[in-house]
Amino acid sequence: MLIDVLTIFPKMFEPVLKESILKRAQNKGLIKIRLHDLRNYSQDKHKKVDDASYGAGGMVFTPQPLFSAVESILGYTVYPREKKDPNKRIVMFSPQGKRLTQPLARKYLKYERLILIAPRYEGIDDRVRKHLVEDEVSIGDYVLSGGELPAMVFIDSITRLIPGVVSSPASIEKESFENGRLDYPHYTRPQDFRGLKVPSILVSGDHKKIETWRDEKSLEITKRKRPDLLK
Ligand code: SAM
Repeated sequence: MLIDVLTIFPKMFEPVLKESILKRAQNKGLIKIRLHDLRNYSQDKHKKVDDASYGAGGMVFTPQPLFSAVESILGYTVYPREKKDPNKRIVMFSPQGKRLTQPLARKYLKYERLILIAPRYEGIDDRVRKHLVEDEVSIGDYVLSGGELPAMVFIDSITRLIPGVVSSPASIEKESFENGRLDYPHYTRPQDFRGLKVPSILVSGDHKKIETWRDEKSLEITKRKRPDLLK
């Protein structure tokens, strides 16, 4: 999968992309992430990408740099539309977007390339939303200062689902939200920490019983903490 990110703060992404699973996924060639500074696509002599909102208010991203950036990355005109490309998706982050969930993250696995737009200020000129962006994604009902953190959350949630990225695929299948459930409790060594013991079933060596215990705990926790998931 190829992911192009449009942002005015590419440096915010660098440390996140250079660590752990995201770094490994890129090194293995399972994902390629390119950061584009939106200002480089501005035709304004001062490389401005924003202007005041009509009718007073804050600053918003103007359409030109965003359309130019996406069209330069794709190599064709997006508006008026030159061609249909079912293998790519242009995603923008917005509090008005569809809430990011595990099933939504999974849906993006089918695309070969994603273009992610990370706005700032009051957001974008609405012509961008209507005629350039294909999906709006929100990471929750709160307002952040920009789309960079949502873009990073989105990239991470999708990357770990790409086959081969996480070393044990079984661990992904059993993670929270897969099968509409929350995870079961985990324990590690020591078996006794200040008198606090690991449940005996987990050290019994009986894998069938352990599976049943985990299944029961996962259901119990989901019922207690997120009954909405079971509906
Ligand atoms: N004026 C906007 C509103 O009231 O909905 C908020 C703009 S916010 C300060 C700047 C940018 O941060 C947004 O355009 C969006 O790209 C991003 N953003 C903020 N909160 C977000 C969220 N919960 N999910 C996704 N993106 C978010």
